[in-house]
Amino acid sequence: MAYQSVNPFDGKLVEAFETLSDLQLETRIAAADACFRTWRHTAYAERAKIIGRAGEILHARADELARIMTTEMGKRIGEARGEVEFSARIMAYYAANAERFLAPVKLSPINGEAHMESSPIGVIFCVEPWNFPYYQLARVAGPHLMAGNTVVVKHAGIVPQCAIAFEQVMIEAGAPIGLYTNLLISHDQSDTVVDDPRIKGVALTGSVEAGRSIAARAGRNLKVSSMELGGSDAFIVLEDADLDLTVPWAVWGRMYNTGQTCCAAKRFIVVESMADAFLAKFKAALALLEAGDPMDAATTLGPLSTERALVDLLEQVEGAVAHGAKVALGGKRIDRPGSYMAPTILTDIAPGNPAFRQEFFGPVASFFRVKDEDAAIALANDSDFGLGGSVWTADVARGRRVASRVETGMMFINNIDWTDAELPFGGIKDSGYGRELGDMGIQQFVNKKLVRTHDVKAPA
Ligand code: NAP
Repeated sequence: MAYQSVNPFDGKLVEAFETLSDLQLETRIAAADACFRTWRHTAYAERAKIIGRAGEILHARADELARIMTTEMGKRIGEARGEVEFSARIMAYYAANAERFLAPVKLSPINGEAHMESSPIGVIFCVEPWNFPYYQLARVAGPHLMAGNTVVVKHAGIVPQCAIAFEQVMIEAGAPIGLYTNLLISHDQSDTVVDDPRIKGVALTGSVEAGRSIAARAGRNLKVSSMELGGSDAFIVLEDADLDLTVPWAVWGRMYNTGQTCCAAKRFIVVESMADAFLAKFKAALALLEAGDPMDAATTLGPLSTERALVDLLEQVEGAVAHGAKVALGGKRIDRPGSYMAPTILTDIAPGNPAFRQEFFGPVASFFRVKDEDAAIALANDSDFGLGGSVWTADVARGRRVASRVETGMMFINNIDWTDAELPFGGIKDSGYGRELGDMGIQQFVNKKLVRTHDVKAPA
């Protein structure tokens, strides 16, 4: 069955769900389209009541919702609670600010007057990944619903309970039928959704492979799309960085969500003079993490989302080693039930090694030593991905100069504050295109209409 909740802590099946029949799918798309026809004319204040209320419910039920997430994909309970609370803040933020983002903008033509209007475009199809089971949903629901669109959402096959729980929150918040619709559908059905003329935009967050498939389909249908795909973010440590502050961020940046984050720090690029000291401290700090029950707040290392994810990651590490990489730490599964991988550091990854260009979606850090700042930037840019990255230095002005030269959609100086409700998120190159959240995110699926006014007179 395509939708299955399996607890990665013990590998036990929690619940399986049938996919929708084609008729059920048709009914849901029709409802989303019908809902759009009235929702598009609803005042912002009316929309805000429902979206804002959804935020309040997420906050009120954070503990229960977090537990569903931890059971389904293994996120440690503290991180899971944090994600639900953040999702609540996203909903609240767009309830409060969407009207401001989408207000008409006056232009200054040489002749006459002009302004840009923003209007919703219709039903948006969102395809979402399991690694942030609620945040990803809030990231599309908050902005796009407040903009006056409706959404139909295909969540990942391994988090059906989270998908259903979020839809339930929206219903409890007073969403009319068709405003927010969860679709338990197959990939083939997903293609028919993209092709459906009632669908006006497509937003996908996921792997490069999924992005290529869905973006091509959307392109064939001339539909606007946004793609939030993988990453292999550089974590650049310069010679003036304070390692006592930098290393804990290196651990957090690689290990948050057991390393399963698109914009996680994945390639640690350290200038020669700091390389040995950084590697020793990083290794020591990672070695302290202890596998345990993700439901226990004291646990410092959770499982990967599925057994399959673990097996694939182990194979990737083996492939890297077969091509000359060395294992400085870990490299193996942890001998206990559940899909646990030891925190791992790979070194000596030469440019010809497939691992040099791959994304490691789990607790595997790639370590590189470089001559200087220029070499660090060159290596950071030698990637097919372009999502985010960070630079660590005592000199913030220098950090900004380095950040400007790194070819990604986001750069962080002396922090990895990846995402906030009000800031755009997204990448370039194989990391995709378009942005979610922030001003750019809410503009992604609106019609930006030019309206120009002149005093009427005969054409010249
Ligand atoms: P995935 O396999 O691509 O799945 C993501 C979503 O796409 C799931 O709902 C999946 O459904 C669906 N999907 C995959 N192939 C599809 C197809 N051919 N047609 C229709 N739907 C399809 O990715 P994942 O392994 O779950 O997530 C990890 C990837 O997402 C990593 O590369 C990560 O970096 C990236 N990610 C990016 C961001 C960002 O904002 N840039 C955020 C989070 C994650 P099924 O589960 O049913 O296959």
